[in-house]
Amino acid sequence: MAVFHVPLQRTVDESYDIEIGQTLLPTLVADIKGGLFPKAHRLALITDDTVRGLYGNTAEAALREQELDVALFSFPAGERSKTRETKGRIEDEMIAARFGRDSAVIALGGGVVSDLAGYLAGTFARGIPFANYATTLLAAADASIGGKTAIDTPAATNLIGLFHQPAKVYIDIDTWNTLTPLEIRNGLAETVKHACLGDANFFSFLELHAETLARRVDTMPLDANVAETIARTNCEIKYRVVQADVHEHNMRQVLNLGHTLGRALEPLANYTLNHGEAVSIGLVFQLRLGRSFGYVTEEEFLRVKTLLCKIGLPVTIPPFIKIEQLLQKMHTDKKVRKDEIRFVFQKGIGAMMRFADGSYSRSVSEKDLIPVLSESY
Ligand code: NAD
Repeated sequence: MAVFHVPLQRTVDESYDIEIGQTLLPTLVADIKGGLFPKAHRLALITDDTVRGLYGNTAEAALREQELDVALFSFPAGERSKTRETKGRIEDEMIAARFGRDSAVIALGGGVVSDLAGYLAGTFARGIPFANYATTLLAAADASIGGKTAIDTPAATNLIGLFHQPAKVYIDIDTWNTLTPLEIRNGLAETVKHACLGDANFFSFLELHAETLARRVDTMPLDANVAETIARTNCEIKYRVVQADVHEHNMRQVLNLGHTLGRALEPLANYTLNHGEAVSIGLVFQLRLGRSFGYVTEEEFLRVKTLLCKIGLPVTIPPFIKIEQLLQKMHTDKKVRKDEIRFVFQKGIGAMMRFADGSYSRSVSEKDLIPVLSESY
């Protein structure tokens, strides 16, 4: 018998820039011309059918105009496309079009596109580089940064995936003007979450601009200064958390704020609640629970609830979802450890609770959960 030890320690620099601004397509083209993907000669521009019509065809033309070798691949918009089947189909199309190791991916769209295209890039030819060009507030606030990529399976969302860091992220706030009010609110839910977990001043900023944001939902174009501050601060907060914990061992759990209940609500509501709406309900629930343990005051609870209401997000559990269903669903969540239901909690507004064992989450018994769940309808 022989044992060979294979020493494989390596230090990698996966740093990347996040550029925030208005109309960043010329910057993307210039970056690629300037060597953003040094070893790539072919570009797979991956998007969904909605974004393709809005921005994809223009992006493809702009890249071609600069004599870049690009092909556009798209799939039907929406979470239902974030599957192995879609990934496999695009991979097959790329293989048929002779894409290989010398390729790079541009993910143009929201979180569904960046998750799927990022995962595809992470596995295609054992990994090719990619860039995210985020066109939703949610992607800007959350999905396009941090390097988490995944697809959904019938068993659970985001179950299959990998960490694959983008070469660069572009947050084009001009694209937010074509978002539906629902998608704006969706992104604002994650934005409020970020403020709650990491930045009290940002929370006050959102309180100040909530009316404007809510009005934009009905009528006006987005205020570019407000949009830029939102994009930048979201990045700063997420960056701080992700940098402290690149592989989600501990601190990154705080990003689950509002998600323990939120993730249970989405399938139980048969996806009639979108992710942001579910997170909003989950945030208020977590605050109620935190209030019962003394982690937040009544005033802090009311401030967050009022802000979410001003934005037009729901804050109560739909009556057709039963407590027993919620408990069961939270027990089967893939983030559950040892069958305990664990939550992360705000410590006031702008900070998170850290518990005696060093963890940012704690388990909560059904005895403590049930009365707070009952209050949340
Ligand atoms: P999405 O990509 O489905 O976009 C939402 C809708 O908006 C789609 O119909 C899309 O076609 C449309 N759209 C996109 N940009 C548009 C624009 N500028 N104008 C008009 N319409 C536009 O989803 P999303 O809400 O951006 O993101 C949700 C996804 O992100 C989920 O799959 C979630 O799991 C994932 N996510 C990932 C992370 C992560 O860290 N990887 C974090 C949070 C969320």
